[in-house]
Amino acid sequence: GEEALKLLEENRDIKIVLTDYLMPKINGLELTKRIRKEFTKDEISVIIVSNDLSRKIPAKFLKYGANDFIYKGFSNEEFFARINSNIEILELFDELKNKANKDYLTGMYNRRYLFDSGKKLYEEYKNKSKSFAVALIDIDKFKNINDTYGHNVGDIAIKEVAIILNKYVDKDALISRMGGEEFVVILQNDTLETLEKTLNKLRVLIEKSELRYENEPLSITVSIGGAVVFNGETKDELIKRADKLMYESKELGRNRVSVRWL
Ligand code: GH3
Ligand code: MG
Ligand code: MG
Repeated sequence: GEEALKLLEENRDIKIVLTDYLMPKINGLELTKRIRKEFTKDEISVIIVSNDLSRKIPAKFLKYGANDFIYKGFSNEEFFARINSNIEILELFDELKNKANKDYLTGMYNRRYLFDSGKKLYEEYKNKSKSFAVALIDIDKFKNINDTYGHNVGDIAIKEVAIILNKYVDKDALISRMGGEEFVVILQNDTLETLEKTLNKLRVLIEKSELRYENEPLSITVSIGGAVVFNGETKDELIKRADKLMYESKELGRNRVSVRWL
């Protein structure tokens, strides 16, 4: 049991734990309990190997959060069938999580994920003084693209912006499609200067993207608003401010970045 916990600590990608009940120091039941303190049933599957004579044990284990059990004396075939069915369930969970958290068109995280995960990032910022900045990115005159070329081409333009953001935004940033032709990025910039520089780089990359429609170049530009925590603002307040600044960029003529402390 002790060794198992150590291995789990060191190998965060372990998905299945197969455990006996009787073990020195930490028995299978205690091991299951400890695993469940840290991992949910859809993160790690715990399968108990149980002695046929003690019929009460499986019930106990299931109560403590085991996913499945298998009686000793199992055949190879039964063993692999159990493992496979547990892998399939874990994969189904992953698929569901992806469907709930990711945007169908771009494969990017969606609004729902942004709010869940943004909250975590904001906590991190508060605990470890990691920096926290928000950018709102909105495609300019997007309705024109739809009206002129059709919604399919509009979709391609949204995907193009998504590709550029995924490629060029820092790996520790959280990028999401807020909805429509609007993206929210949570970045680790701590000054307005670095934030403005980063956002301007993205703006230019999008402006220079060589999207073509029937061999004609199709230009896309974006307006961006960016905000950095100044005086203990909440995540939602920052998003609101970034949104306001994005509208300022629109009013100032679009294809630009607006950042301000307050
Ligand atoms: P602005 O420069 O002020 O942002 O103008 P805009 O035309 O980009 O803004 P507006 O909000 O008027 O139009 C957004 C359009 O985006 C309207 C909506 O039909 C379209 N849209 C929203 N989601 C999608 C999508 O998934 N695919 C496509 N093709 N169009 C979408
Ligand atoms: Mg727009
Ligand atoms: Mg919009």
